[in-house]
Amino acid sequence: MENKEKLLEKVESIRQSVEFMKKQDMEENPESAYEEFQCDCCGEIKIFAGSLPYDSFRLCNDCVLLAETGFALGKMKDIEDLMEKMEDKRFESLYKSIFNPDENSMN
Ligand SMILES: [Zn+2]
Repeated sequence: MENKEKLLEKVESIRQSVEFMKKQDMEENPESAYEEFQCDCCGEIKIFAGSLPYDSFRLCNDCVLLAETGFALGKMKDIEDLMEKMEDKRFESLYKSIFNPDENSMN
């Protein structure tokens, strides 16, 4: 059984590597900082940099962090599990994009 400090260390190292991945993407392909796509997980429009494919889904950098942290901490077992947990969030994003288009474009 891991203690809390070790877990925090683990989360921090995941956060750093996910952030590094985004930076690397921007360096290798500067356009990825401007190109946008709709994240399959949170449903928001995000930039390509730092995004990753998981099975048939493409996750934004924020969701990659969420996924990797969740897996590492045993909060979810696989990507399907995460997609299920994010269902409400996706719905909320969709709702906002339909009824508050201005607010959505602020992101
Ligand atoms: Zn996302």
